[in-house]
Amino acid sequence: TRFSPRRALLSVSDKTGLVDLARALVAQNVEILSTGGSARTLREAGLPVKEVSEHTGFPEILDGRVKTLVPWIHGGILGRRDKAEHKAQMQEHGIAPIDLVCVNLYPFAATVASGADAEQCVENIDIGGPAMVRAAAKNFASVAILTSPAQYAGFLAALEQGGTTLAERREWAAAAYTHTAAYDGMISAWFTRQGSEEGKVALPPVLTLSGQRDELLRYGENPHQAAAFYRDGSTRPGLATAKQIQGKALSYNNLNDTDAAFEAVAEFDEPTVVIVKHANPCGVASAATLVEAWKAALRCDPVSAFGGIVALNRKLDEATAEQISAIFTEVIVAPDADEGAKAILAKKKNLRLLLTGGVPDAQAPGLSFRSVSGGFLAQSRDNGHVTEDMLKVVTKRKPTAQEMADLLFSFRVAKHVKSNAVIYVKNQATVGIGAGQMSRVDSARIAARKSEDAAHAAGESEALTKGSVAASDAFFPFADGLESVVAAGATAVIQPGGSIRDQEVIDAADAAGIAMVFTGMRHFRH
Ligand code: 5GP
Repeated sequence: TRFSPRRALLSVSDKTGLVDLARALVAQNVEILSTGGSARTLREAGLPVKEVSEHTGFPEILDGRVKTLVPWIHGGILGRRDKAEHKAQMQEHGIAPIDLVCVNLYPFAATVASGADAEQCVENIDIGGPAMVRAAAKNFASVAILTSPAQYAGFLAALEQGGTTLAERREWAAAAYTHTAAYDGMISAWFTRQGSEEGKVALPPVLTLSGQRDELLRYGENPHQAAAFYRDGSTRPGLATAKQIQGKALSYNNLNDTDAAFEAVAEFDEPTVVIVKHANPCGVASAATLVEAWKAALRCDPVSAFGGIVALNRKLDEATAEQISAIFTEVIVAPDADEGAKAILAKKKNLRLLLTGGVPDAQAPGLSFRSVSGGFLAQSRDNGHVTEDMLKVVTKRKPTAQEMADLLFSFRVAKHVKSNAVIYVKNQATVGIGAGQMSRVDSARIAARKSEDAAHAAGESEALTKGSVAASDAFFPFADGLESVVAAGATAVIQPGGSIRDQEVIDAADAAGIAMVFTGMRHFRH
């Protein structure tokens, strides 16, 4: 049975659409109750409105901390319309029923994001709002609860049809509890961070998966899997801020790969291009210009780059767009693109172009998750950043300045390649990437073989691994892995160190006359 409200309580922080909603309600003779700021907005629009304080006979007190936390509001929301005792008690205490509650909460997340001090953040923890939202949702049998301006149009359409249905009210109730759960999740995470030591990431004692389901995706990793993108309210440049300028809808795999590519490109200061396939980079290069970086990244593994995801850490220019659009590419993600670049890509109807407005800070703290049976694993994100002063030269020969620059570059790439990762780099460009093997020797060999293939394809006589440097994401457990990169032609190696057989590996490096440095930091990525 459809149900139309006779009395509504409107108390919103985000006043978008408020006046239009109220106007439609007034037209249906609904009495409007409202709190301070919301009431003012409505009055200024010339709409009849009754302040909650006037309705309850109790003023807003304690700087607004207590506005609606009184029986005349909560009784009006929670009283059961189908129970004679409830009706009698409401009458006895002068409690009028409230059938529509429209509330959205104090902007806690936005306050934190603005860099406000702790006192301001605490003041932006809404108390009365969530109480009303939860109460109204509980009584969805008779009460409609709206928590987002995006719901107003649907609600008004229902009124046009003679009132809201039970199914609609149940759906809004679900959204309401999602809203309050996400809200408390953010507050809990913020409180936990406050008590944590500087630089140390605190893991919250309870983690609700409180993201908002943003969009259902066509399917998951495979067509028989359902999938959705849940947003957690983050404002970090990346998928959170990406605007899709053109192209087909993004798939689950597109989102996953685009994220991997953009996180990787964020490691580098110089103009850099990362090409990703199946969440692994297949070409990474830095250069004086983006177009040079693109050419060098593509040179690494042009076969794999087909149908890839391309991430850039600079505004996409025309010359680079022209080059990228010459091969089949699924997604391009960049902080921005100039008009000429957009015009070139517009000719490729299916190509998805995402502009994020910025590049994320690779060293920022955060959490990352993966699901396991029975729950999920959480860890602080790998924001480790190896710099030259952290390196320990362990061989007789020291790296040259050119080798040193390439070693640091290669280890930053290694961080974004699935383990076991072995990467060859020459002149700030990957020339061979071995990813995801169960043995480190296999990764080293695969990277070298791929480099030979690329040289062959380019009509060159020799693989670029000759005279390159090599990175390993974790230590070499035996000398064989190191011997394999030496055989491929690497003249310097970067690796974490820490194996009980380190000395064996160092001796092998010295015997080959190469330079080797230890980072003391591992970058496993599974
Ligand atoms: P207004 O701008 O109308 O003055 O305030 C609207 C906001 O106040 C809404 O976000 C609503 O959730 C919140 N609110 C309503 N009642 C109470 C209350 O009793 N205590 C607190 N802290 N917030 C309330």
